[in-house]
Amino acid sequence: MAIPVSFEFFPPKTPEGAEKLRQVRQQLYALQPEFCSVTYGAGGSTQEGTFATVGAIIAEGVAAASHFSCIGATKDSVREQLTTLKAMGVKRLVALRGDLPSGYGAGGEFHYASDLVGFIRAETGDDFAIEVAAYPEIHPQAKSPEADLKAFATKAKAGANSAITQYFYNADAYFRFVDDVRKLGVDMPIVPGIMPITSSSQLLRFSDACGAEIPRWVRLRLQAYGDDTASIKAFGLEVVSDLCARLVAGGAPSLHFYTMNQAAATQALCASL
Ligand code: FAD
Repeated sequence: MAIPVSFEFFPPKTPEGAEKLRQVRQQLYALQPEFCSVTYGAGGSTQEGTFATVGAIIAEGVAAASHFSCIGATKDSVREQLTTLKAMGVKRLVALRGDLPSGYGAGGEFHYASDLVGFIRAETGDDFAIEVAAYPEIHPQAKSPEADLKAFATKAKAGANSAITQYFYNADAYFRFVDDVRKLGVDMPIVPGIMPITSSSQLLRFSDACGAEIPRWVRLRLQAYGDDTASIKAFGLEVVSDLCARLVAGGAPSLHFYTMNQAAATQALCASL
């Protein structure tokens, strides 16, 4: 494959889920990912599952990145987890602020992802490559688009090595974002996060929550398919493979797939490249 790829998983909750994910990983390893990353629940809620999955990936001989969110965390707890991750052989982190479920007070010693990036650099030097999140369609809590771009540049200045974007279906938002942050002096790679489309209601609900725009024509077509999963998947593959092709042609350095712990859609998209 010409363009490098990476894959994201979430930690399974049951032994059956863990076994299924093991099989999914084996299928996706055939695509030779640069690394596989594992999400981390807000407030450390999945720490055990995240670290176990990261450990399994490393034991399978593949580079693993642990996501790491700082909201509600203390410096001591972060220091301790960094020591654990280093001892496990982890060399890449996705450093995030995270979101606490409503009702939780923020607390903690970190306010923004940039605080975490700076802390990791100060504590561990160059032991970890640090990825951060990017929002071509603007983070939903940003004070303004300009403030969001500045916040992103602050993460780069704090020591991030590269970024992975929130998913989007509008390639122009990505290209504009890259142009805008280059003007702010950010030269790190910005890797598009790709969400395959395999279902309608789940995607529409999730996208509303995280501020990813589903273009009207895509939304209406998905809604019109109703329960016809085969048509949704075929249409989704067409839309997302066109998006990937545009991103690659426009200079995206690699693609990061939100696999949702499923192999088929990501395999089909990679095959289309
Ligand atoms: P930040 O970069 O800190 O930004 C959060 C908000 O604060 C933005 O609106 C920004 O504009 C603003 N801001 C930042 N700095 C400042 C400042 N100095 N002053 C004022 N405003 C500021 N969530 C999880 O819980 N677990 C995961 O594993 C996970 N993985 C993710 C992976 C990727 C690739 C992406 C894109 C997102 C992921 N998320 C994950 C979601 C993420 O935690 C949320 O989007 C969260 O709301 C923001 O995290 P952040 O790291 O982007 O925060």
